[in-house]
Amino acid sequence: MPDNYFQPRELECPCCGRNNFSPGLLGILNSMRRTFNRPLILNSACRCRNYDLKLNLKKLRKDFERRKMRNGLIYRIAVEEESLKIRASSHIKGLAADIRVSSPSEMDEVLREVYQYVAPVIQRVGINFEKGFVHIDLDTEKPQCICWGY
Ligand SMILES: [Zn+2]
Ligand SMILES: [Zn+2]
Repeated sequence: MPDNYFQPRELECPCCGRNNFSPGLLGILNSMRRTFNRPLILNSACRCRNYDLKLNLKKLRKDFERRKMRNGLIYRIAVEEESLKIRASSHIKGLAADIRVSSPSEMDEVLREVYQYVAPVIQRVGINFEKGFVHIDLDTEKPQCICWGY
């Protein structure tokens, strides 16, 4: 069995190739990959600041369209809040991965495996049912023992 199933292309920033991916997180992903015995697809791993900003602004714009907010001031405050969040993105730090799940049973499988690592290793898990991915990160500068939905 190979030690590493992930090509640099799967880990690097899609826009510029930046790759500062955490060896510790790579080890966890490889261990999950061995357990599943099927390809483990990452929606997102490393991001540069520009790419992360682009993704977040796209999401922000969608949120605003949904809420039909037209007030420029509110928009500006939200952009500022978003940029604070971006500065701290675990993806920029190379400490995060979004694992794609394409069915409820895959979500189950990934979460079951992730929970094996929760405390002491993975303490931060984000779940997005709508888009179908599980975010995990090893960012110790953020609150630990936390699970959230998007
Ligand atoms: Zn980039
Ligand atoms: Zn993520």
